[in-house]
Amino acid sequence: MTTLADFESTGALLTGHFRLSSGRHSERYLQCARLLQWPQRAGAAGRALARALADFSPSAVVSPAMGGVIIGHEVARALSVPFAFAERQDGAFTLRRGFRVEPGASIAIVEDVFTTGRSTREVMEMIETLGAGVVAVGSIVNRGLPPDAFRVPSRSLLTVQVPSWTAEECPLCARGVSIDTPGSRWGQVES
Ligand code: ZN
Repeated sequence: MTTLADFESTGALLTGHFRLSSGRHSERYLQCARLLQWPQRAGAAGRALARALADFSPSAVVSPAMGGVIIGHEVARALSVPFAFAERQDGAFTLRRGFRVEPGASIAIVEDVFTTGRSTREVMEMIETLGAGVVAVGSIVNRGLPPDAFRVPSRSLLTVQVPSWTAEECPLCARGVSIDTPGSRWGQVES
């Protein structure tokens, strides 16, 4: 079971003044890497997400790098299926390092956080152009995407509504609080 308490106790739920990858400002930031640096917790999250995705019988798991790599690997381990990660090359997600998906394969795409769902949707399209199908998508955290955000079923362990504002309406900016851009500082990829 992965709960908000796990995020708090591992320092993965940060409080401050942050510029999100969307450009909006927020006083909370979820840094999944801080949770996943504990292999036991990563394994537990992977098993829980694998249970949620097992009904769709994926034959492989594919994740966008970097954010999805650890959790995708743990989900694949729990499902006893192979795992591959997609990387951006010239802006577009692609499978490198000899990774292949078989035509007709049933793929689950696994991410750490759904924020806009952009990376997941791009990997979906890439998988489909290779002739394989995406049967479901999953993440540890959903930051408020609706259930129909993807064309396939979507499962998340935790849904967290984090209030955010434009720079103009941000109360922290109004109080002159200095801002952090955790994405660039701590290496989170846009999700
Ligand atoms: Zn602000």
